[in-house]
Order: sequence, then structure tokens, then C-alpha cells
Amino acid sequence: MAQTIAIDEQVTVGTLAESLMIPVSRLITELMKNGIMATVNERIDFDTAQIMVAELGLEVELTKKSASQPIIPHDKKTVLSDQAVARPPVVAVMGHVDHGKTSLLDAIRGAEIAKGEAGGITQHISAYQITHGTRAITFLDTPGHEAFAAIRAHGAELTDLVVIVVAADDGVKPQTIEAIRFARQAGVKIIVAINKIDKPGADANRVKQELSAQDLLVEEWGGDIVALEVSAKTKQGIDQLLDMILLVADVEDLRAETDGPARGLIIEAHIERGRGPVAHALISSGTLHLGDYLVAGHTYGRVRNLEDSDGSPILHATPSTPVQISSFKSLPQFTDEFIVTADEKTARLLAEQAGASQQNTAHVDMDSGGLLSLIDRSNQVQLLNVIVKADVQGSLISVVDSLKSLETNEVAVRLVTSGVGPINESDVHLAHTSNAILYGFHVTVAPSVRQTASRDKVHIRLYSIIYELIDDAKAELSALLAPEVKESILGTLVIKGVFKTTKTEVICGGEVTSGKLSAPALVRVTRSKEQIAEAEMTNLKRGPQDATEVITGELCGLSLRTTGHLDLQEGDVITVFKRELIARQL
Ligand code: GDP
Repeated sequence: MAQTIAIDEQVTVGTLAESLMIPVSRLITELMKNGIMATVNERIDFDTAQIMVAELGLEVELTKKSASQPIIPHDKKTVLSDQAVARPPVVAVMGHVDHGKTSLLDAIRGAEIAKGEAGGITQHISAYQITHGTRAITFLDTPGHEAFAAIRAHGAELTDLVVIVVAADDGVKPQTIEAIRFARQAGVKIIVAINKIDKPGADANRVKQELSAQDLLVEEWGGDIVALEVSAKTKQGIDQLLDMILLVADVEDLRAETDGPARGLIIEAHIERGRGPVAHALISSGTLHLGDYLVAGHTYGRVRNLEDSDGSPILHATPSTPVQISSFKSLPQFTDEFIVTADEKTARLLAEQAGASQQNTAHVDMDSGGLLSLIDRSNQVQLLNVIVKADVQGSLISVVDSLKSLETNEVAVRLVTSGVGPINESDVHLAHTSNAILYGFHVTVAPSVRQTASRDKVHIRLYSIIYELIDDAKAELSALLAPEVKESILGTLVIKGVFKTTKTEVICGGEVTSGKLSAPALVRVTRSKEQIAEAEMTNLKRGPQDATEVITGELCGLSLRTTGHLDLQEGDVITVFKRELIARQL
């Protein structure tokens, strides 16, 4: 009977090997065979462990140790009480690069943020609230859809509504389609803003047509999608867009509880000089007060400073409100849920528990689904080792998620390590030893670190625009793709006589039955429709003369270079072909 061993939901390679009483090297080798490069301290999940036990053929049955309770219980309450009040809609603006997302947000906000950004592309997620008439609307500023995907992957639904910006002079583009797909997957309402309507080449009808090809039928064409013509430049249509956002919010009847301790989501966190850890958070329920104790992931603190999205001090904040909090002892993680606790002790205990549990779950590189698909493609998958450093959590998650989204059945990104902050000596060292590409996003490199990098021949690649970084990684992954083998048949020939056969060569004659032959080329020899050999045709003759080309109906002599003895016979058919290797792109 199989021995039963209880392990945690997550277990290090070392601990698992110990529990299974096998050498750790054996387990690492087996993981590697399945495409997982894991060191002794890296963690794998229960399902992966189970698959490994099966692959190793061990007579062991794994069971899970009883799981501990989640540290912050999830807010499962979907039925709101009578006390629940209307809350502002949370809106994400998405669309193709350069279609005017930032300009539109600026026009709405009445600020001039776009000009200060590298390449005009918004780099990290944050949020702000505006007032339209008497009502508030919260906008999420986003680097792309990856950050939303990250938030969704962490189990939180943030957005109520997506405004898809399409430039009237450019139409529906790949990222527009991606945005539509995102909104659909998230199950949120869509409003289309046909932007740049002031431009001479603007053609709103064409945009609507292209949208209908994506199954987004606008209202005037009998569909249910609101599409508005706007200009971030002249501000035309901005008021109507905001009216429409509020109208959709009303239909959705967005409400939340304002009583009780606040909870919400960390959407940005960074260290600020003189202030320490600063977190941007979005409140999902309850009311957050200055002075509250709160816990987020493995960190906790007391709200010493509470500011609205403009940086003005506030005393409390209600649902859908983006706030800046400085209070945490250390940096919380992007997408951590935060919750207000009764006192400091509770906050600290919860944070400690989360820290301990995080130690058990950190560095999970792969879940069992990932493993199964890797087993499926074992031996084929090529890994690109990368290290990513970014300025803030939001950017880091965006970059990492975007890198992961490049993976295919043949190539995968292996994140050796990642983190927030400048590139340091240990990053360079790790890049050197693991042969990894070192990406820096919005970060700096000290001169001494540069020196180490140049000594170790580590190429640091710094980017301030996410798409450029991703393009670079795409090119690196493309280079790992096995080239496409393309065969083109030149023609066929029937052997009429064999003149000389050695171990490595056959000299023979034949008649071209189709096509146009030239040497050098590859040949396939078939007898009674069955392939008997492959060889290389090195020379062609017409009579005693070398020929560059022979055509259908002609008789010719040919030399074949073989890898072993080839007993060629009269009547054998020779197919002449060329084989080309074509580099592929992701
Ligand atoms: P994003 O990449 O989608 O955030 O696009 P940006 O907001 O950075 O805008 C890209 C370019 O289009 C900038 O040069 C803007 O000045 C320009 N632009 C944006 N909106 C409008 C508009 O309504 N009319 C005109 N004429 N130009 C616009």
C-alpha cells in the first residue's frame, strides 16, 4: 500500500525531497525534465508535487496539510443592506496607443499630465476622482490592460465601466480590440469615445463600422453601445461623455456600504523621500478615517496622512474613492487587499500571520495548470531568463504580466527575480550567473553598478516605455524560436542507369519527369512509392558537360552524396527539393 505523506499547499523543492526521502538532485532533475527550472529553495504547489511523485514512480500518496484560514477574510457579502448608498462609478480608459487616452483623461481632469510623460504613455496605475455637476466619478489611470489583468488575476473587480478611446482618424487597432476583449471578459459596460473628431481626416462612421466588425453595434445602428464623438483637444463632447458615464452608472445601480471599517485594494505603492511607504488605494466598502489602523498583506500601520487623489489632506474617505495613505511600516504590494482593524495589535498580528503565510507561498513560479502545459511541451520549450526591476509595484506587475503574455507553446519567460528599486550589484551578479537579461523600467543604475555590469558583460536594458521593453523581449523570444523549415520541390527524375556506387557517392543517369532541376539540392529516393533514402545532389550533367539546369523530358547525369551505401536501382524515383530555414517572429 502506498505510504501517505502530508505536505503543505506550497512546498520547497528541498522539503519535498526530504519528505519523499529522495535526493534533492533527483527531484530537481525530474522538474527540469518537465521544463521547470527550480532550485532547492523554490516552491512548487501541491498539484505539481503530486505530478512529480507520479513521474518519479514513487509509491507515495500525498495529502494536503489542513489549510490555514485566509488572513483577511474575503468580503463575500454581495447582498447590500438598506444602509448601502450610491457610490461613484470606477472608470477605466483604454484603447490603442496614441489614440488620446492620456489627453482625454487630462481634458476631463483639467490638468496637463500627458506632456510630462515619457513618450506620452501612462506608466503606472493610479486613480483620481473628478466631480461632474454634483456627482463624483473615479478614473483609473492605466499603463495598459496588463495591470487590469493583474488586478483581476488577484481576484478583485475594480472597474465598473470601460471607456474605449478610438481615434477618429485611425480607427480600430490591435489594442482597441484587446481593450474590447478585456472589457468583455471583465463583464463591464463599454462606452466608446471616438476621439480626435476635430482632425481633418476624422471619420466617425468608419470607426462605427469597424466596431461593428468587433460585434460592438452602436445605438443608432440598432445596437446597445453608446459611442460619442469627442475631442480631447477642443473639449468637444467631454461633458456628454461624463453625463453618459453617470447615466450608465445609474442603470447599474452602483451602491456600497459606508458604515463599518473600510476595506479596499492597494493600486500603487512606492517609497517617497521623507514620507516612507506611500500607498494609493481604492476603497471598496466602509469609511476610512484618519488615524485608523489597517493591514495590507504583510504590512500594517496607522493612517497618519490621508489625502485625496490631488494630494489634498482629507479626514475620511468613502467607497470608490482613491486615496493616498502614508502609514504603512513597509511597502504593501500592488493588489493587496487592505482592511481596517480595531486596534494596532490586531493589525500587527494579521500582518505577521500574512507574512508567515507569504513565506510559505512566495516565489510560486508555476501552478499545476502551468506545469501540465509544460509537460505537454517538454523538450520543446525554450526559456528566456529575465530579471526585472521597476520603479513601483504597479509598473513591475505590468511588465512581468506583459512578458508572461508573450509566452507560447515554444518559448517561455523565466523570471529569475524581480523587484522594486534601482538595479543593484546583486541583480547584476544574478544576471551574470543565470545568463539573464536585466531589464530596468523607470529605474536608475549607479555608476559602480554599471562598472560591475560592464566587467561581467551583463547588458542592462533600461526602458521608460513599456511597449518598447516588451518589443525588445519579443525579439529575444523570437530569436529562441526554432526556424521554420520550408521545402520546395524542384522536380522529379526516374533513374535509367547506375554507373558507379561507393560508400558515399552514387553516379547515375535519369530522365526528368517533372519540373526543372538544378544542383546542389537535396533528393529523396523512393521505390514503389516508399522512401528509401535522402541524399544530396552535388552535380548535374547534360551529356559530358556540367549543366546548371535540366528540364522535363531531358536526360541527365547526376552525382549523389550519400551518408551510407545506397543501392540505387533503375526505376527508382528521385524527388529533388531545396530546404530553407526561415527565422520566425513571435
Ligand atoms: P495615448 O497614448 O492614448 O495616451 O495618447 P495621448 O493622449 O498621448 O495622445 C497622442 C497624441 O494625440 C498627442 O500628440 C495628442 O496631442 C494627440 N491628441 C489626443 N487627443 C486629440 C484630439 O482630440 N485631437 C487632436 N487633434 N489631437 C489629439
